[in-house]
Amino acid sequence: MINDIILLKLGEIVLKGLNRRSFEQKLIGNINRRLSVIGKFKVYCMQSTVYVEPVDETGDMDAAFEALTKVFGIATITRAAGCEKDAAKIAELAISYLKDDMETAKSFKVEGKRSDKRFPMTSIELSQYVGGELAEAYPQCEVDVHNPELTVHVEIRDLAAYVHAAPTPGAGGMPVGSNGIGVTLLSGGIDSPVSTYMIAKRGVRLIPVHFFSFPYTSEQAKQKVIELAEILTAYCGKMTVEIVPFTHIQEEIRAKCPEDYFTLIMRRFMMRIASRIAEANGAKAIVTGENLGQVASQTMEAMASTQAVIDLPVLQPLIGMDKEEIVQTARKIGTFDTSILPYEDCCTVFTPKHPKTKPKVREVAEIESVLDIDALVDEAVAGIERVKVG
Ligand code: ATP
Ligand code: MG
Repeated sequence: MINDIILLKLGEIVLKGLNRRSFEQKLIGNINRRLSVIGKFKVYCMQSTVYVEPVDETGDMDAAFEALTKVFGIATITRAAGCEKDAAKIAELAISYLKDDMETAKSFKVEGKRSDKRFPMTSIELSQYVGGELAEAYPQCEVDVHNPELTVHVEIRDLAAYVHAAPTPGAGGMPVGSNGIGVTLLSGGIDSPVSTYMIAKRGVRLIPVHFFSFPYTSEQAKQKVIELAEILTAYCGKMTVEIVPFTHIQEEIRAKCPEDYFTLIMRRFMMRIASRIAEANGAKAIVTGENLGQVASQTMEAMASTQAVIDLPVLQPLIGMDKEEIVQTARKIGTFDTSILPYEDCCTVFTPKHPKTKPKVREVAEIESVLDIDALVDEAVAGIERVKVG
């Protein structure tokens, strides 16, 4: 019995020359982990295609296909039916497996590919033969070799022959873990799940950090962030969310610093704590959902003052996007509906009436110097709660 399989064409990793093997291994590891919750599958790479085969009946192919559309590092995904390497059997399979496609298309062609050179027909002979049989079975669908609506692929590979129609686009990007580790600041808003997704897409394994200001923000606000992280695991893989107690820091700032500087100073604390978490985990960048000009803390001056307290690069993948584009992505990745649930965020609780939009870095540093910064950071880091998702 030859099973249906899923064929995955690798994305950008084919460009990576020497690193290619390790990229492939990362991708295969990620695929295995993602499929392990669905059923038993065999995953292997041959001739720059990754094959995913169900091992037994636990292997739900629909669920596997859906999960694989979210794995970074894959350019295209195709579901294919397999049979013995026998021309008559291949034609028979093409006729039954592609019934729906052949009945809806007005024109088609067959593209044969013989990777196993022991197969007695050439690629062209194979295409002509299968094309002929399909044309006879579906007379309303015409052969058109120049501009067909449907291209039927027939591949003779080492182990079996496979028939499939057009591939669907994969998630693109690079395998998570192939480009290092980052810390991503995850609020409950619309933006930060999107920035997390975008940097994961570049192959970065992410550690989500959430600043939590109980009782100013509720238990539900925290659950919402965990839920967002859970949704993101379809793309990012398993993660551990670090929940940082932020209340004491905010109360100290409110008690001792002028109101207009509140958000700026708070964001500097976020960066310091994120940077400590990065150090502890070997992460080399901080990711935020900042967007130029969107709010007072997202002017160039404000960002300079925020970033001045750390050495790591701050990656802001949304910096130049319009809100509408961000919302579209949030809908596509499935985080939007959770993001718009109406729970407060720690930033909104103490928002100043007239926030400073053009702060000078030195000025901010001087104002916050009344606080015992190191002790507050130590205390917050010591109180971190870790929640596993995925
Ligand atoms: P978002 O929709 O992601 O909340 P925003 O447009 O509301 O973003 P801000 O509230 O100014 O913008 O926050 C900017 C970025 O700072 C966020 O995108 C996120 O990366 C980070 N951030 C803000 N609040 C928190 C929080 N409570 N915990 C973790 N990160 C946060
Ligand atoms: Mg926010």
